[in-house]
Amino acid sequence: MPWRVGPADRARGVRPDPYRVWLSEVMLQQTTVAAVRDYFARFTALWPTVADLAAAEDGHVMAEWAGLGYYARARNLLKCARVVVAEHGGTFPDTRAALLTLPGIGPYTASAIAAIAFDRPETVVDGNVERVMARLYDIHTPLPAAKPELTARAAELTPQARPGDYAQAVMDLGATICTPRSPACGICPWRTPCVARAEGSAQDLPKKTPKKQKPVRHGVAFIARRSDGALLLERRPASGLLGGTLGWPGTAWVPVGEPKPWAAPPVEGAWRRLPAEALHTFTHFHLRLTVFCAEAIPAEGETIRSAALAPGKSGFVPRADFRPSDLPTVMRKAFDLARSAMDNAP
Ligand code: SF4
Repeated sequence: MPWRVGPADRARGVRPDPYRVWLSEVMLQQTTVAAVRDYFARFTALWPTVADLAAAEDGHVMAEWAGLGYYARARNLLKCARVVVAEHGGTFPDTRAALLTLPGIGPYTASAIAAIAFDRPETVVDGNVERVMARLYDIHTPLPAAKPELTARAAELTPQARPGDYAQAVMDLGATICTPRSPACGICPWRTPCVARAEGSAQDLPKKTPKKQKPVRHGVAFIARRSDGALLLERRPASGLLGGTLGWPGTAWVPVGEPKPWAAPPVEGAWRRLPAEALHTFTHFHLRLTVFCAEAIPAEGETIRSAALAPGKSGFVPRADFRPSDLPTVMRKAFDLARSAMDNAP
């Protein structure tokens, strides 16, 4: 993984760069390594240091984050970088307690940075570590109730020597050997003390409390294209779901069962409703987004760069300045529907 320091470099005394450790840990929250890899490479190429990131334009960072989800992370990323530069001279603090005072750094991330970047003996417990602990000690209490017990067990095992390497090793053990469906116990370094392996219960652990079904919401998005190709975009308000991201003007998203919300289209034009809906699943609900599109609207008025759109504002963005990849996934799905409808229009 590009944010890791390999064994040969570690032996030569190379230490992980706290900026890269922090960036990777924030990106990896709720996201897989495979999804993060390209984003991490792009971010570190664009902004090689925390000072570079702190000086970046908000709209540029939000655009580069587009598609990674959980956009509050991107807003906090910028806030955190600016606090590190303004209040810590561009150097990350090196203790868990001090890291916890920074925006967007919670208990897990603070422990991970303290352990990995600064070799502090902090206990780092992600989903992989929870699975390994549940199996190692054959803990049958379902998650999330089992979390305190799993964390306590993990803490007992955390060594004073090389705690950073240890933290990464246990997470890697869970990701590659003690996998959810078929743990490779035969090659596991903990096969002798592992209770679940001896009991034959490894594949059933950790137990989980069944999840409630997600509710469904619906709403409307309007996609307008002018005769000069400019597209009407809005930047969502800075806080809340998808806060600060680019998207299409539209309605609120309300629970299905309540009347479908309606708002007048944002500009005059020959609006038509697309037959398919854009479907997307967020953490707490499924969304069905009805998409209306209008095209060849006479090109009157100014255009604005997408990065210059302020939160809560909309404006026509020149086609050359618009990249679908700057949109969060749900808005990109709506655009894909509109684009194929507009391109196939008679
Ligand atoms: S022995 Fe098997 S179940 Fe136990 S920790 Fe290793 S891989 Fe997981």
